[in-house]
Amino acid sequence: MEFKVSGVEVVLMKGDITEVEADAIVNAANSYLEHGGGVAGAIVRKGGAVIQEESREWVRRHGPVPVGGVAVTSAGRLRAKYVIHAVGPRCGVEPIEKLGEAVRNALRKAEELGLLSIAFPAISTGIFGCPYDAAALQMAQAIKEAAPQLRSVRRIMVVLYGEEAFQKFVEVFKKTI
Ligand code: ADP
Repeated sequence: MEFKVSGVEVVLMKGDITEVEADAIVNAANSYLEHGGGVAGAIVRKGGAVIQEESREWVRRHGPVPVGGVAVTSAGRLRAKYVIHAVGPRCGVEPIEKLGEAVRNALRKAEELGLLSIAFPAISTGIFGCPYDAAALQMAQAIKEAAPQLRSVRRIMVVLYGEEAFQKFVEVFKKTI
């Protein structure tokens, strides 16, 4: 499913984000950048331990990543050049609007790095417990708001793991974007 927002291509697809061809893939991280399960676990398994090592070094230097914030590492053996680690909110603990902030910060970082394409997973909808529709709304609004300022980024992918997530995201993006 493809959309065009202020000249930027926005593509929703079903699949595994570690297989996607993009300059950066976004990780659904926690503040300590300890990549155990979910997307984070998959990224480190496929990309290699260097991603976890660089993440620990990042936290040693800068401290924990705030909710809504991002950190960058290399992407190891993945096809991407970078992993942008974005910390989404835990639903019921932190406000869902922090998810929009994480998306805007990831897009800003991709611009700083001069990247053409970036792929997001459904941040906060796994271990962090947010419903697909609320998360999709945050992501769609953040992308729509950021798109007019994007110069370098021309393609934004949202990679959904499974049919249910994909259907919910398509429904919300159609109404919002
Ligand atoms: P969070 O802690 O932010 O909730 P998770 O990694 O637990 O992050 O899950 C975020 C979303 O990513 C969930 O919808 C989960 O189903 C999905 N997911 C898990 N593995 C992958 C993968 N390899 N590619 C894309 N999405 C994935």
